[in-house]
Amino acid sequence: MKLTQYFSKLLTESVNLNATRLGDLDTRVSRITEALKAASSLDGRVLDTVPQGSWAHETIIRPAAELEFDADFLVQLSEDAAWNENPRSYANAVWSALSDHNIYGGMSSKKDRCVRVTYSNDCHIDIITYVVMSNGRQVIVNRNTNEFEDTNPVGFSEWIQEKDRLTNGNLRKVIRLLKYLRDHQGAFRLKSVLLTTLVGNIVDNWRDHDGDYYKDVPTTLLHLVEDLDRWMQAQWSKPPLVDPSCPMTSFDHRWTDSQFAAFRDRIHDLAPKIRNAFDAPTVDESIAAWQKVFGTAFPGSVATATTASASGAIKSADVRRAPKEQFIEEMFPVQLTETVTITCDVSPPHDLNRVQRRALRSGAGHVPKRRDLYFAVDGTTVNGPFVVYWKVRNSGFEAEKNRSLRGEITRDAGQRRKKESTLYAGQHYVECYVVKDGICVARSREPVVII
Ligand SMILES: [Mg+2]
Repeated sequence: MKLTQYFSKLLTESVNLNATRLGDLDTRVSRITEALKAASSLDGRVLDTVPQGSWAHETIIRPAAELEFDADFLVQLSEDAAWNENPRSYANAVWSALSDHNIYGGMSSKKDRCVRVTYSNDCHIDIITYVVMSNGRQVIVNRNTNEFEDTNPVGFSEWIQEKDRLTNGNLRKVIRLLKYLRDHQGAFRLKSVLLTTLVGNIVDNWRDHDGDYYKDVPTTLLHLVEDLDRWMQAQWSKPPLVDPSCPMTSFDHRWTDSQFAAFRDRIHDLAPKIRNAFDAPTVDESIAAWQKVFGTAFPGSVATATTASASGAIKSADVRRAPKEQFIEEMFPVQLTETVTITCDVSPPHDLNRVQRRALRSGAGHVPKRRDLYFAVDGTTVNGPFVVYWKVRNSGFEAEKNRSLRGEITRDAGQRRKKESTLYAGQHYVECYVVKDGICVARSREPVVII
């Protein structure tokens, strides 16, 4: 059995990085950004910061005990013709800014492509120097070789989002589950960027026509792992792997032939175990079989949604309540039997560069400050009449500093739209709830990262 609710509980209680730690990450990134902007070595060259990697793709997971999680962001510097002759100049300026800083000096270390700021026993943040050249070329700096390397961070995020849409929002959850198997269960070893690219490549566009193939988390997990296994078994040797957002960049140097072979063999072991658990005929047998895959973190039971006790417990432990924040569970019984999807439009900006415009068009979730956002219900399976409610929750250092944390739930006046202005940097979200006959039957969340 696929046990969809058990998977939700597994994700919430054991796999996902909890909201407090994500909030702390926002605060830390804001403070590092302020330090970079103030640094004399950078002298006003900091144009922007762009989340990257698992942080941007929402595939960060809770680290195994005693380990740190990792977050990457790019600091975009203005182009300097003199520095282009010696690409290391860019990276050295970022290194000076952090290593000379009274707080970050002792926390910073130099890597080939980044400066790493380490918060012991919690996380490290990699700050990667990034330049968009006047000819449109996007590069990061490799300090070791003193060369520029092509990159396309927004393109990679767009690619993941497109694949996630094709799987009804299940791809990123499956990637998190696979990373959990890697980090907590020792199921295999593979760099995150390779895992994300391989699994994303497996998502088939034509499956879109078979609405059930990526229907929910366990079904998507089963199909992606089985399809990945089939594809890997057909490879004679390490297949060429290209950065999906940057065809000039190959990932071949990121892994060896023997790493490929080991990964292929481990996935070949894993696929039948997942099939077994999925096909087990009773709940008890299925739980036992899923626990063979995920260990004891796979829940042995789930509380029914109507009691609201399970979600209430998670919520108060994981999320700091903002002043005036409301939770839908405290207003209505929640029985999620239907779905709702929402869209987000951003007011047309006038002063953005080409990359930023593309980021907005793609709905990449990264929105510059001081724009208007228009959220709208795109579709729902709920038959009318029903009432729509909206919640906007912001977080992050800036909002906190300005005492603007919020999270009230408001009733929609009937137009099924919500307008918001983006004022504070941080990781925010908008949630939409559909309430029918006094019961919340559908909810949807749209992340908004303001930079
Ligand atoms: Mg990193």
